[in-house]
Amino acid sequence: MDLATSSADIESIVVTSEEIQNRINELARLVEKDYVDKNLLVIGILKGAVMTMADFVRALNIHIEMDWMAVTSYGSGTKSSGVVRILKDLDRDITNRHVLIVEDIVDTGLTLSWLKSNLESRGTASVEILTMLRKPEAAKVEVNVKYVGFDIPTEFVVGYGLDFDEKYRNLDFIGVLAKRVYS
Ligand code: 5GP
Repeated sequence: MDLATSSADIESIVVTSEEIQNRINELARLVEKDYVDKNLLVIGILKGAVMTMADFVRALNIHIEMDWMAVTSYGSGTKSSGVVRILKDLDRDITNRHVLIVEDIVDTGLTLSWLKSNLESRGTASVEILTMLRKPEAAKVEVNVKYVGFDIPTEFVVGYGLDFDEKYRNLDFIGVLAKRVYS
């Protein structure tokens, strides 16, 4: 934790490492029940969801397969552009598969709403979403997110996979980035 707190880049801690791990275990129990014998394909969204994905799949006690996608809707700033671009697509055909998207954060919802429709258009059996964080007050479009780690206030957060200019991803907690860092 020294990394961020000593330089005072983190204004406040939003979710501690222990809270994250406890919530991941709770979500894993729910997902296990919902996907018994469904040959679930878990799709992690690079790069932000790497930590959530790694901890979440290890907490699951059912067989799953994993794949990854990289999309972008942000430049190096902190506001959603609404324009989604695929940087890396899936390695496989997902026709008739039950898919669970694992995302770091739902802010405006624009990225996930686009991504969900994109995957559904490939003939999937089902597409659901798990996100570690959600900012309910920032929503611009309705997205049905089945599994939510934590609802948080509309502030720019970093840590546990979330970056600012590629930094802070390796913090094991989630905190509000001090405004002076990006303004
Ligand atoms: P949305 O399309 O829902 O507005 O944005 C989703 C994407 O924006 C996330 O996957 C994430 O990359 C980025 N994002 C949204 N809010 C935050 C935040 O508070 N911190 C960071 N680091 N990224 C964010």
